[in-house]
Amino acid sequence: MSRFAYVNGRYVQHKKASVHIEDRGYQFSDGVYEVIAVFNGKLIDFDDHFSRLGRSLNELELKWPIKHKAMIVVLKQIIRKNRIIDGIIYLQITRGVAPRQHAFPEHLNSSLVITAKNLDPFEFDAAKKGINIITTPEIRWQRCDIKSISLLGNCLAKEKAIRADCYEAWFVEDDGMVTEGTSSNAWIVSKEGKLITRNISNSILNGITRLSIIKVARENDIEIIERPFSIKEAKSAKEAFISSTTSLVKPVLKIDGNFIGNGKVGKLSTKILDYYGSYLKAQSI
Ligand code: PMP
Repeated sequence: MSRFAYVNGRYVQHKKASVHIEDRGYQFSDGVYEVIAVFNGKLIDFDDHFSRLGRSLNELELKWPIKHKAMIVVLKQIIRKNRIIDGIIYLQITRGVAPRQHAFPEHLNSSLVITAKNLDPFEFDAAKKGINIITTPEIRWQRCDIKSISLLGNCLAKEKAIRADCYEAWFVEDDGMVTEGTSSNAWIVSKEGKLITRNISNSILNGITRLSIIKVARENDIEIIERPFSIKEAKSAKEAFISSTTSLVKPVLKIDGNFIGNGKVGKLSTKILDYYGSYLKAQSI
């Protein structure tokens, strides 16, 4: 079956979809993106993704390429044309096409590209197997709160993780504090059984999965503490896990080769994964 992409007002075959070589996304990483999960043909946490996209655009003084309502129509068309049941939508907005010069060109129309792909149906039980991760120095810029398409630091760290036979890498600042993963947020369960994740600041992306976990955990009377934690604290934590739109919730078994807790998938991580699974199944637009 052919895949379709949306590129600046047109639905085109995915393999033929392209943008101009002077698109500022290509030349300067001057753009932002969102990845939205589709579960059972429905968009997950759509409003939260859109409000984060609006914030990213605003921070970079980028314009919305089309109106909100038109965007929803395009997203639904992309889901339909690509026959997505379980999968993801990738949406990217760049400042547009202009002769290469660093300063923002005036009166430029931003570019919009949307693609979609099917993924295997999510196996909630298989997810409970857990993953291993490594740590790596935090080398990224100081505005990790913006979902910018400039992801070179993230790519370098992910490659390091893959070469170490691991699933993810956690960035660690000079003072030993963990920021987040290359494409996920970081969580630990303290020795006292408290769920801890880093507070929102310029140092991390405010993950939509992170926000939903906070919501479902609080609904189920699980206390969440939003504060920085060190890699030392993480390595001696009872449990650890990561969260993201594509990985959902994945328990961490080992960090840098050291077992976390008893080296098995923890009780609270399993609970969070179950609550998050029910939350996904219950929503739709
Ligand atoms: N941090 C980073 C750096 C990411 O790239 C992602 C995934 N896009 C996340 C956190 C998790 O965000 P979300 O839950 O919205 O997928």
